[in-house]
Amino acid sequence: PAPAAAAAARRCSGAGGEVEAAAAGSSRRAGGVLRHLLLKLRATGPVTVAEYMREALTNPGQGYYTRRGGVGEGGDFITSPEISQVFGELIGIWYVSEWMATGKPAAFQLVELGPGTGTLTGDILRVFKQLASLLSKCDVSIHLVEVSPKLTEIQAQTLTGGKVQLNPKDAPAYMKGVSKTGIPIYWYRDIQDVPQGSFSFYLAHEFLDALPIHKFQRTEKGWREVLVDIDPEVPDQLRFVLSPSRTPATENFIQPEETRDHVEVCPEAGVLIQRLACHIEKDGGAALIADYGHDGTKTDTFRGFRNHKLHDVLRAPGTADLTADVDFSYLRKMAQGRTATLGPIKQRDFLKNMGIDLRLQVLLQNSSDSATREQLLHSYDMLMNPKNMGDCFNFFALLPHHRLAHPNKKDNPQSKSPLPPVAGFAELVLK
Ligand code: SAH
Repeated sequence: PAPAAAAAARRCSGAGGEVEAAAAGSSRRAGGVLRHLLLKLRATGPVTVAEYMREALTNPGQGYYTRRGGVGEGGDFITSPEISQVFGELIGIWYVSEWMATGKPAAFQLVELGPGTGTLTGDILRVFKQLASLLSKCDVSIHLVEVSPKLTEIQAQTLTGGKVQLNPKDAPAYMKGVSKTGIPIYWYRDIQDVPQGSFSFYLAHEFLDALPIHKFQRTEKGWREVLVDIDPEVPDQLRFVLSPSRTPATENFIQPEETRDHVEVCPEAGVLIQRLACHIEKDGGAALIADYGHDGTKTDTFRGFRNHKLHDVLRAPGTADLTADVDFSYLRKMAQGRTATLGPIKQRDFLKNMGIDLRLQVLLQNSSDSATREQLLHSYDMLMNPKNMGDCFNFFALLPHHRLAHPNKKDNPQSKSPLPPVAGFAELVLK
């Protein structure tokens, strides 16, 4: 039936075959994720925002990331590594600096979550190659965790030139290859598939903001969870509703001392941090997490992006990127004291501490044409200006406690000079 007829049928009659038929008809016109959700909502009632977000982003057949994952200028959003190669180079230096500060272990694996187009990984690998004299005796491997088949393909092309092996017998990865710089790369769908038990660095850039959040609203009757339901007035349209009573989530995720009226919680990010903290505590390493976010102060940050413009989060799920600010205070809590945490520190402070100004000077001196120089200055401004990405993006790190311990000379007179400060979170240490 036509949309108006379907709506009229649903409004006039109660439950019954006529409604079912009209509903099925309207669902067929909706896009893949929406059609799936409409059927589900009709069958079992409202879903949490987390479930909605998971379907919209990573539904195996139709999710936004599964099908397209629009990073880059021609896509829906642009990220720092896509803006400037300097960003990834400085992150590469961060890992080398941490590797040196931990006594240059004989091997490390770098595990990246949600590598997008692979640009950031490529820039890091270039730094590893440039510092080959330092790293030559270290056995380095790259492990990429990615759900999107489309993006996996792009990463393989960027990093290996497309020379990859599917379902290798000798590794738990679904794909493996060798980088253009000669370093083995493995792909997984889930971090739990990545081999454990060895010194590991972790990287998550604009990854945690894509993980599903629960949303809560304070009401006169107490906390209620925000849910997604079908709008009874408009065919094929979704709306937010509040849970009629408390739910297990309102009990588990809202702290008694909470002062905000609206709260977003991302339990998947919490579980991930717990996992990383356990691994780092046991096997050594570090995690560097960079994203836009806050320290437990913001309220409603759930947003959609399509073609670089804001997009109604409930419209056409699967066709737009959905994201929510990362709550770093929650991440700190979820590390549960297993590791030390540093940050969040603003992107412009982190990059300044990492020596971005010096790097820019060198690149400017080395480029003779004005278009390149202009481009360099423009991308510097995008990354550093508080009006662009300088203030809203933050860096946060997990490190073993002993990495930050100040050796006590009295207890340990043999100890050498104090450990170097962690790069980026203090003024530049690696020149
Ligand atoms: N780090 C990149 C891309 C950020 S976009 C950059 O900064 O440019 C988010 C990335 O996370 C994409 O690669 C997306 O496909 C991936 N992703 C999203 N949800 C995921 C999940 N649940 N598991 C694994 N990867 C996921």
